[in-house]
Amino acid sequence: MKYEIKAFDKKAKSATMETVHGTVETPLFMNVGTVAAIKGAVSTDDLKEIGCQVELSNTYHLHVRTGDKLIKEFGGLHEFMHWDRPILTDSGGFQVFSLAKLRKIKEEGVNFNSHIDGRKIFMGPEESMQIQSNLGSTIAMAFDECPPALAERKYIETSVARTTRWLQRCKTEMDRLNSLEDTVNKEQLLFAINQGGIIDDIRISHAKDISEMNLDGYAIGGLAVGESHEEMYHILDVTVEHLPQNKPTYLMGVGTPINILEAVDRGVDFFDCVYPSRNGRHGHVYTNHGKLNLFNKKFELDKRPIEEGCTCPACRSYSRGYIRHLLKANEMLGMRLCVLHNLYFYNTMMSEIRTAIREGRYTEYKNNKIRTMLEG
Ligand SMILES: [Zn+2]
Repeated sequence: MKYEIKAFDKKAKSATMETVHGTVETPLFMNVGTVAAIKGAVSTDDLKEIGCQVELSNTYHLHVRTGDKLIKEFGGLHEFMHWDRPILTDSGGFQVFSLAKLRKIKEEGVNFNSHIDGRKIFMGPEESMQIQSNLGSTIAMAFDECPPALAERKYIETSVARTTRWLQRCKTEMDRLNSLEDTVNKEQLLFAINQGGIIDDIRISHAKDISEMNLDGYAIGGLAVGESHEEMYHILDVTVEHLPQNKPTYLMGVGTPINILEAVDRGVDFFDCVYPSRNGRHGHVYTNHGKLNLFNKKFELDKRPIEEGCTCPACRSYSRGYIRHLLKANEMLGMRLCVLHNLYFYNTMMSEIRTAIREGRYTEYKNNKIRTMLEG
């Protein structure tokens, strides 16, 4: 893996990252395909057309349903879903802590019941690495605990210390798996995850500890889980500078276009979020002049595309009025067109962000973009 920073504009950075599955340009937005598909009937051919650079799949979901061993039989996720560009898999940690029932955390890992069929599953750092190795993703995420945003200091301290010990175990196991003969991707990368709730000194000391462990990239987890936007920006302000600048910086699960613009300004260059696909499935579409709800009656006779000038597959051919009709009739095409437009909007914004950073006018770009989105 080669990560090379092409430009800084104050703290905002734009880089290229070479992987075994091709080169990507940052800042970038990873399009979320939970169970190896973007919800809304979006295919991997569509992803190429709408400018997706990295697809993200969920380890927990693929493990509990269909199973990673079956996917390994297909030659890994890339072959299984027909995608030849980078894939990031999360560690399963976030879903274990947010979805699974009756979980019990021990030093070795977590016992929990599947949210699908209730069967008992154990997942620790080694199991998470083994599952992600079977999936053969380009980038694996370390297994961590995501403590509740408003947990007590004592709980967060104990949890973060365990997450650091788990990171060392993830690294050891990943090295072992990458050296095995039948491993799908022997150059699988491993990103660490910084935790610490919204407590500055825990975030900073954890960032310093994991920075010394020489991972391929560094994520900030446990944000966008109930704290305010101001608290999230503050944590980025105090934490990012303690993570290695010469490695990818990934803010997990964030967020709105404005959240992304603000985080880029604070040195983040990898993002993922379910908002564009989830909102699209509900007929909520992003534009440079704010979000529209296509269910609204005022779009009934609207012959304009979702956004004038947008070259996505929805806007090239279809009107707001037609898409509204599809949504009201519960036709799958309505959801699909909205999801395609929204992902295209995010991917295009990331491309504009890269250009603005490389041309040294990021602040001006960001301020204009936010102003037009808020003015509506
Ligand atoms: Zn469009």
